[in-house]
Amino acid sequence: MSEAIRGERMGDVRDVVVIGGGVAGLVAARECARVGLSVTVLEAGSVLGGALASHEVAGLTLDSGAESFAVRRNAVAEFIEGLGLADRVVQPNPAGAWLYLPSERPGGAAVSAPMPRAGVLGIPGSPLAEDVRRVIGWSGALRAWLDRLMPVLTIGREHSLGELVRKRMGRRVLERLVEPVTAGVYTSSADDLEVDVVAPGLNAALTVTGSLSGAVLSLRSAAPAGSAVSGLRGGMAGLVTALRADLDRFEVEVFTEAAVTRIRPTPAEPWQVTIAPQPEAAEESGPPEHLKRSKRPKRPKRPKRPKRP
Ligand SMILES: Cc1cc2nc3c(=O)[nH]c(=O)nc-3n(C[C@H](O)[C@H](O)[C@H](O)COP(=O)(O)OP(=O)(O)OC[C@H]3O[C@@H](n4cnc5c(N)ncnc54)[C@H](O)[C@@H]3O)c2cc1C
Repeated sequence: MSEAIRGERMGDVRDVVVIGGGVAGLVAARECARVGLSVTVLEAGSVLGGALASHEVAGLTLDSGAESFAVRRNAVAEFIEGLGLADRVVQPNPAGAWLYLPSERPGGAAVSAPMPRAGVLGIPGSPLAEDVRRVIGWSGALRAWLDRLMPVLTIGREHSLGELVRKRMGRRVLERLVEPVTAGVYTSSADDLEVDVVAPGLNAALTVTGSLSGAVLSLRSAAPAGSAVSGLRGGMAGLVTALRADLDRFEVEVFTEAAVTRIRPTPAEPWQVTIAPQPEAAEESGPPEHLKRSKRPKRPKRPKRPKRP
């Protein structure tokens, strides 16, 4: 269990102080502890995990942040295996993601349809395909298809994903296919996303193929087959529980409700970390508490061998 930090911690010397008990902080703490460093984690919130968390909806425990991890590279899968969670890894439902969109006409019925398959961030590779038309209709599909006839005037220069899609494929593709994806994945409007960051290679492929849909198909054909993500049975928040247990194994100290307010070098030893006073601690002692981080302590000297007679 995490515990509250108290005044007597003042003057403690640790090899490493990790500020923030989100998944990045917990992984960093584990890496340091594994090589024998003494580690303390200071988390401002009352629970660990940061954006990797769960909540309850209608009696179901659901992830409230990340719900899956990328498997195009093996790093996370191997890490999860190292934590002993390999048997909890699950694949996404093959039915794929669905869109639920309001009607475009006042009083009309909402549209519920599978996400078109051949796409990148919702941008369709085949604008006239049936699964695309089902979401944006014939008129939206024909407008999107015009992308194939348009000259490539902004070779590699379009920075905003929203602007790129709007210009080449029209408003319907942007609002009904791309925005739902960017809102879900990046909590952002497509207008605020940099193409080269969220879809690396798309601008270059557009230059080569001469159209946005051509670029999408080219990126899709270069991507390895199979699902791009996996999940954990019971939710991704289970990763935090497993990491926490592993930190105990390596004797890492973990404190919650310990918001760091200052880090500064001290004249004699490397760094001093200051945390905000906790409500009851503030009442008791007033000033903020301090933790010090030092370089790795020197190994104790080996006892000398007795001299041979
Ligand atoms: C809704 C949502 C869905 C997502 N879906 C996915 C997904 O499906 N797949 C995926 O890979 N990623 C997903 N992400 C992104 C992923 O969850 C985050 O990138 C990741 O959890 C960030 O971890 P972190 O440790 O870097 O930061 P955080 O989780 O933000 O952790 C930072 C921690 O530091 C603490 N902290 C901050 N300041 C201080 C301080 N001064 N003193 C002490 N503690 C401090 C905070 O309280 C927090 O706990 C999603 C994110 C969100 C929000």
